[in-house]
Amino acid sequence: MPAPRTPDIRARYGLRPIVNVSGTMTALGASIAVPEAIAAASALLPEWVEINDLHRKASQAIAKATGAEAGFVTACCSAGMTLAVAGAMTGADLSRVEQLPDASGMKNEVVILMGHMTGYGADVTQAIRLAGATPVPVGNVTDARDYQLAGKINERTAAAMYVVSHHTVQYGQLPLADFARICHDKGVPVIADLASESDLTGYLAAGADVAVYSAHKFLGGLTAGIVAGRKDLVRATFLQNNGVGRGMKVGKESVVATIAALEAWGRRDHAAERRKERGYLDLWKARFDGQPGVRAEIIPDPTGNPIDRLKLSVDPQAARITAWDLADRLAAGDPPVIIRDHEVEHGFFEMDPCNLHPGEEGVVVARVLAELEAARGRNEPSERSAADRKRARFERLLRWPD
Ligand SMILES: *Cc1c(COP(=O)(O)O)cnc(C)c1O
Repeated sequence: MPAPRTPDIRARYGLRPIVNVSGTMTALGASIAVPEAIAAASALLPEWVEINDLHRKASQAIAKATGAEAGFVTACCSAGMTLAVAGAMTGADLSRVEQLPDASGMKNEVVILMGHMTGYGADVTQAIRLAGATPVPVGNVTDARDYQLAGKINERTAAAMYVVSHHTVQYGQLPLADFARICHDKGVPVIADLASESDLTGYLAAGADVAVYSAHKFLGGLTAGIVAGRKDLVRATFLQNNGVGRGMKVGKESVVATIAALEAWGRRDHAAERRKERGYLDLWKARFDGQPGVRAEIIPDPTGNPIDRLKLSVDPQAARITAWDLADRLAAGDPPVIIRDHEVEHGFFEMDPCNLHPGEEGVVVARVLAELEAARGRNEPSERSAADRKRARFERLLRWPD
């Protein structure tokens, strides 16, 4: 059951009614929250609750969904990464919790594969440094080996960070099981950043001691993060609420919505959702592939999430528009359609079918075909490069709030 959407609150505040074919992006509002999460948050917001008891209930719900010993809800995945690192540094010692981010006298190094040193709007290594720790890179961007990881672990190593994401380098890295075995041989816990990975059990089973997820991505919860894992480490992460975690406070509404979203995830008809998304992809491929200068193909998610996307490649000479100009015209249109542009400089973008309200798949067809037709009426594609576009975006950011 989709949540009721009228009246559209965006109009009241002068916000554009965007259609999201990009994915579960913070920049676009994270996700369509599931009705169960919205209802749970609304029901608890007007009530008092003993917050650490709520956290105990959340721990049980997370343990049930992930197979972990315990769980803790944080402000977001990024906060969970920082606090899990802090927990590995302090353990359950409250004097150490209060001392951070001054790490004197504590283990303070965190090993991470260089190919995992990516960003998600902010840098992974900054989430580590925020705890008062120092990231220690292993290997080079496209090649990491067992002995290189073992060689970077020493008596100062507090934890290891392992990142699973389409943002990381997708080859030449150590598999999680090998990474964890080497860390465990030296007594070092592994924290895995799994923000967008919908497998809630496999990474813990493969050797992660702490798994950190976003609650507001595939789960459709309110904004929150989920820390699941070994009880001593999760407890130490929770205790950061008395320390650096206070500046990353999560509200009762997000904790209860995370419980509700996890329960709803267990009941969701995932096969039916896949079939619906496949229908959108088949429609888009049939309508776009073979348009002059356009090739459309359905591609799997790079990290094995059960999601396919449409890859739309644009030949600027034949289509009379570059992939990035097409993306910008779609985003400037009525309604604005926002595509997935991580690799647009290579002349393609992707379209994600997971975040649409009913009927929007047809809106997307009409908008893309209209922009392609308008482009064919032009003589030449514009000379603006993908780098120019990127630069202009950051210039706009720096002018905020104007
Ligand atoms: C989205 C994302 C994050 C950040 O998640 P938040 O819950 O928004 O803080 C961290 N790591 C990766 C790989 C991500 O994709």
